[in-house]
Amino acid sequence: MTGADPIEGLRLDRVSRRFGTTAALRDVSFHVPPCALAVIVGPSGCGKSTALRTVAGFESPDAGRVLLDGLDVTRVPPERRSAAMVFQHYALFPNLDVAGNVAYGPRVQGVEAAPRATLVREMLELVGLAGLDLRRPHELSGGQQQRVALARALAARPKLLLLDEPLSNVDPSLRRDTRTRLRTLHEARGVTTLWVTHDREEALAVADIVIVMRAGEVVQSGSPREVCESPATTFVAEFLLDANVLPPSAAKAFLSLATDEVVAARPDHVGLERIADDSAPLRVVTVAYGPVRTEVVCEGVLAASGETFRVRSHVDTDALPPGLRAGAPVRAFVRPADLLRFRR
Ligand code: ADP
Repeated sequence: MTGADPIEGLRLDRVSRRFGTTAALRDVSFHVPPCALAVIVGPSGCGKSTALRTVAGFESPDAGRVLLDGLDVTRVPPERRSAAMVFQHYALFPNLDVAGNVAYGPRVQGVEAAPRATLVREMLELVGLAGLDLRRPHELSGGQQQRVALARALAARPKLLLLDEPLSNVDPSLRRDTRTRLRTLHEARGVTTLWVTHDREEALAVADIVIVMRAGEVVQSGSPREVCESPATTFVAEFLLDANVLPPSAAKAFLSLATDEVVAARPDHVGLERIADDSAPLRVVTVAYGPVRTEVVCEGVLAASGETFRVRSHVDTDALPPGLRAGAPVRAFVRPADLLRFRR
């Protein structure tokens, strides 16, 4: 099909991009409905930034299409895509004050002085920076600069907001708060948003749609709940849930489970019992105390192959079984209903 496409919002249709021998994007397709916030998440080097830059128009795909509200924008230059990108390093204009930075887009678009000033005021209120109009970027904290960059992007009234690791330069202690603010802001503005991060907790916390990438491919997309309840692959289970992935032989040895399939179990689904028997299949390696949950990592060796496996358990700290310390022999168990199963 060419030209108009009936699907609104943002759609990537079988996009591929190579850099020399590296396939940064392989047949990448996804859809972000209008007003939704989608987050691309995956380990470093999986193609997240390339996907975002392709949507923005800074990269041209070798194959495939980018569609915005039904229009094929694959060959449209960045400034004509109605998309605003907030870069990891906010790239604010250092010689302009906050108001000047936010007014930049509307000025280029020819918005007149009076409505422009109103828009700037609205945007600064929206991001919680009212009154800081005259500061220069270097007089602001990382989190404040991030919000100026966001206000500047929104002031251009884009159809699509693109955020590249928006919290990476925000002080770690402020990240949760800033991420909640961004989510609230998204709800207030309703701009279709594509956000890129390597942080799974951030992705699950803010997204309407999570797009999980690995080695240039989309391995799964869906609501945070969908991808967590039904991870499509063992990679998704490990990456998003920190799940213990065990082949049938290890499931039998370490969880006393007879199964033909590869199984995965979330750490909070793995129960532990201290046993006296020195022939126990698992031993505790580390115990990391937490006020709510304590993480216990155990290790066992598969007799047949000599392979070492780790089993991670998150135990309710209030119900921590006695005697769980490094070196202690333990038995692990998972309720069959809690297991995720994979054909591999
Ligand atoms: P991510 O954002 O997930 O860390 P990127 O999209 O930046 O991943 O990169 C995906 C792959 O493409 C990586 O292997 C990276 O080294 C490679 N790559 C990205 N941009 C370029 C480039 N301009 N030249 C060569 N290789 C690149």
